[in-house]
Amino acid sequence: MSATAPITQDVMTIPRKLPEGPINLVGLTRDAMRETLIAHGTPEKQARMRTGQIWQWIYQWGVRDFASMTNLAKAYRAQLAETFVVEIPEMVSRQVSSDGTRKYLARIAGGHEVEVVYIPEDDRGTLCVSSQVGCTLTCSFCHTGTQKLVRNLTAGEIIGQVMMVRDDLGEWPEIGAPKDETRLLSNIVLMGMGEPLYNFENVRDAMKIAMDPEGIQLSRRRITLSTSGVVPEITRTAEEIGCQLAISFHATTDETRNLLVPINKRWNIEELLAALAAYPKVSNSERITFEYVMLKDVNDSDEDARRLIDHIRRHQIPAKINLIPFNEWPGAPYQRSSNNRIRAFADIIYKAGYASPIRTPRGEDIMAACGQLKSATERARKSRRQIEAEAGL
Ligand code: SAH
Ligand code: SF4
Repeated sequence: MSATAPITQDVMTIPRKLPEGPINLVGLTRDAMRETLIAHGTPEKQARMRTGQIWQWIYQWGVRDFASMTNLAKAYRAQLAETFVVEIPEMVSRQVSSDGTRKYLARIAGGHEVEVVYIPEDDRGTLCVSSQVGCTLTCSFCHTGTQKLVRNLTAGEIIGQVMMVRDDLGEWPEIGAPKDETRLLSNIVLMGMGEPLYNFENVRDAMKIAMDPEGIQLSRRRITLSTSGVVPEITRTAEEIGCQLAISFHATTDETRNLLVPINKRWNIEELLAALAAYPKVSNSERITFEYVMLKDVNDSDEDARRLIDHIRRHQIPAKINLIPFNEWPGAPYQRSSNNRIRAFADIIYKAGYASPIRTPRGEDIMAACGQLKSATERARKSRRQIEAEAGL
């Protein structure tokens, strides 16, 4: 080529080597994808349409390689493949419980691993998704809380867990099929490892993708975010995500909640209840789920049940109370309340007019139940004595 070769070529045709390697399109919002495409040569006028097309390939049909995106020009597909990738976490292992629950270990960039749990039921299939590797909080009854925070997951790694499990369940629709009716994975709960509201933007972007009508198409009523009580982010969740909310309540006095859910020292029960009372109006959602782990002789008295009702009534919160039998893990400083105690507690709540289902532990035999998650590669960094000291025992 001569030194005077024209420099006015369409930027589309100039292969550009990116110093930081290929860019992953998974996890970008629609706007971000559009901007990224433009920044790498897609003409601005076409960018909205191209984003829509690529988006559908990735999220509606589950396609990962550009060569298969047949409504795009061949040269454009090749061009995309030079700059971008469609990448999701790698499934390292899968364990299947005797009750059908599947626990996956997913490897993300940097070699870290998170657990993802799929829980099939008669009328739905729920995926329990992680938002962080580890957790900064140290709830004394939670296995994840014994693992320090390693890092936040990116939006791509969060929605990538959903895509990874859809792969495993073989439930991407046939390309061109009229409407995706296959719903083995019909619900998402952000109840895996981590505190989702300490990774707000990534969780929000991932859930927007899950709800997008031209993608995974899950209704916001089928997505539940569980938080330990990051009060300022609760209103933001209502405004910017609008999904269902679950709150890890677990205690009815500040004294006990400070021990079980230490974030209570930052935002106490009254502040939390006020934020919860505002949530349904702002998000136009239904009831708030109060999660309540049943710990023998710690938070399971009749008096606790009555106080719980009183809190909810006083703030007029539309609520359902989900009672979770404590799931044990090695070194845990608590015991599960007896079945009789749990039933008596549930009864008081039910008679007061609130639904009080007792959550059946799922996948216990493979350590997949609530609060048992922790990546095997990230070994416990706390001793039993440390755990007990933090639990105030
Ligand atoms: N960090 C968020 C979401 C993950 S925990 C939160 O705390 O809400 C999901 C649910 O499992 C929470 O309600 C949590 O309190 C509960 N949980 C944690 N450890 C548990 C255990 N050992 N047994 C039963 N439930 C547990
Ligand atoms: Fe973190 Fe939730 Fe476990 Fe508390 S219960 S340590 S917030 S994952």
